Amino acid sequence: MSPEQETTDVRRIPFTCTLDCGTRCELVACVADGRLVRIDTPHARDDSVQFPRLIPCVRGRAHRRAHNAADRVLQPLRRSGPRGSGSFEPMSWDDALDELAERLVQARDKQGPLSILHATGAGSISGRGLNGADASRRFFSHWGPVTEIAGNMSVHCVTMAQQWMLGSHLPGSDRATLLDSRLILLWGMNPAENQMGPNTAHFIAEARDRGARVVLLDPRYTDSGVLADEWVPLRPGTDAALVAAMAHVMFAEGLADTEFLERCTTGHEAYRSYVLGEVDGVPKTPAWAAPITGVSAETITRLARAYATERPAALLAGWGPQRTRYGEQSARALMALACVSGNVGLRGGGLGGYGTRGGGGGIEMGALPMGTYAPGRRLPPGSWAPSILEGQLEPAPSLLYIVASNLVNRSPNSLANLAALERIPYVVVHEPWMTPTARHADLVLPINTDLERSDLVTSWGHDSHLFYSQQALASRGASRTDYWVFAQLAERLGIGEAYTQERTEQEWLDVLLAESPMALDDLEDTGILRRDPPPRVALEAFRHDPDAHRLSTRSGRIELQNPDAVAYGLPDVPAYVETEPGPVGYPLQLVTPHHKLRSNSCLDANPWLRRLEPHTAWIHPADAAERGIAEGDTVLVEAPGGRVRIPALVTPRIMPGVVSVAQGTWLALDAAGDDVGGCANTLTEHTLSPTGGPTTHTAWVQVRRLDHG
Ligand code: SF4
Repeated sequence: MSPEQETTDVRRIPFTCTLDCGTRCELVACVADGRLVRIDTPHARDDSVQFPRLIPCVRGRAHRRAHNAADRVLQPLRRSGPRGSGSFEPMSWDDALDELAERLVQARDKQGPLSILHATGAGSISGRGLNGADASRRFFSHWGPVTEIAGNMSVHCVTMAQQWMLGSHLPGSDRATLLDSRLILLWGMNPAENQMGPNTAHFIAEARDRGARVVLLDPRYTDSGVLADEWVPLRPGTDAALVAAMAHVMFAEGLADTEFLERCTTGHEAYRSYVLGEVDGVPKTPAWAAPITGVSAETITRLARAYATERPAALLAGWGPQRTRYGEQSARALMALACVSGNVGLRGGGLGGYGTRGGGGGIEMGALPMGTYAPGRRLPPGSWAPSILEGQLEPAPSLLYIVASNLVNRSPNSLANLAALERIPYVVVHEPWMTPTARHADLVLPINTDLERSDLVTSWGHDSHLFYSQQALASRGASRTDYWVFAQLAERLGIGEAYTQERTEQEWLDVLLAESPMALDDLEDTGILRRDPPPRVALEAFRHDPDAHRLSTRSGRIELQNPDAVAYGLPDVPAYVETEPGPVGYPLQLVTPHHKLRSNSCLDANPWLRRLEPHTAWIHPADAAERGIAEGDTVLVEAPGGRVRIPALVTPRIMPGVVSVAQGTWLALDAAGDDVGGCANTLTEHTLSPTGGPTTHTAWVQVRRLDHG
């Protein structure tokens, strides 16, 4: 087709990448004769340094391959062989829905609604709207009080820490305020790969061009290293120790912002006593922290002085440090450090930086309304499997209904998750692709991709964009929307009218916009509504006048000492708590970070993305040499609960003593029970932090070279 023909024959249809990657992006489907010619980006958009466009990454641009992937589920499938064998027989939608309706009624009538487990995630769609979790929650809210596998896999510990210290979850400053930073600490944050809010990497790069220094603190030299002036390798789980030593330098050298501490915080005297060793006789000096953290005393001292004096300085904390055994302490400590340095409430500064924004000049979008039934019971997403395997649930599960979640892959300890699934008599999965979870289901229902449905979604962690993602292609095979499936099922179960309120999906989209100043038609051409309010500085008003802008803590101030933590067996201040050593024979610490070519465990079905970068275990040259491992060797990464077989990447981009297996590839067991797919959660455990947070960055492994031939 010539370019001239394209201009006349190709329709450009805006749609949205709804992956849970850390942002959301505008895409355009170029369609001719019902066929997807290519994925493009919008031709024209307002664009400025302060309010930049949303530029899609390779994952979004590869939507066509995900849509056409060989692993797409195109018909309802009923299992016809042993679980996990991949043997399924196709069936009609009518038969599938009749069977499912009958199974649901049987389970509810015989064992009660609590025996039905309902699991959701941010899989095939993330960001509210008609599909995914909201569609299934609405269904069960009209049908019965089932058990929901729900909770916060992402930011549990920081949510707890913020509740204790700030009284509620408060978003951080807008990323545009980084343009005013003189120093940016990327503490376990990797925006070059994980976005962490729209255009975070753009603002950091721009700030650096304007003279800011950027320091990356991470066990790995991630791709965000290109944004940084310096990499400080930091041992996983030791963040609170590094913070204590930096605070020691600030207190000892008179660099702490005592005016801010006294005016805006409580408990700073107790934290100071801990840091100076007045309580336990152990001053938390840089020399004390160096062997714990792997960071030299000189570097700790230098960092502390810089963070206290090069103001405004932003401390952008990623989510890895708080997905650890004592993640609450990491999260509390990082917020405490921002307070000791006095960088809170300053434009260009920032307290932790966990959220981006919410409220205040943003865009409101409604949500699908819920019915009368709340879930009768909730199981944490990080530890649902043990409660099944240990027989803790009464009534025992009779049916598991999974929507938008590759549950086996995305929860810690995938082999135990599989074993738990085996205990459940009937498992149904909504999926666009044949994931490992779907392979172990009894009924797999084919679901549309972003290209095949219309929906409204909001920005990720931000409220300045609203996307109208429009259906560009007819459904492949018999795939349908989650909403359609639940509407059909509701009809069979006598709650059809309650579920649909006799609205079409398109009519529901108008309802979701009822509170917005925009109508759906206004969004049709561009696919996006964008607001560009002035960049917001978190806690600015509080810093200015803490009495007039009290926080919802007991004191109204930021509380560095908190008795609520003690109830969970934690120190009352953000002290370092040493992680228990790994079991004998597993000397290396494992981290399981997100990867730039996947979004959680989505996209392993996309052949383009798989080819771009092989899945590997990162290991430091010294650890590799000790084990006779050379670059590219296939290695066995062994944890107490499972084994993964993948190539080694021998690289100084990871600190000694630490191994990295990025999450998101799919579990694939060979005859020996080894995972040749390289699923990171084959190696993680169900251990929780003291308040119940997932600990997927606290795991221990051994790595061995496999003999060739
Ligand atoms: S994966 Fe994320 S960054 Fe990439 S196109 Fe999709 S929303 Fe944008």
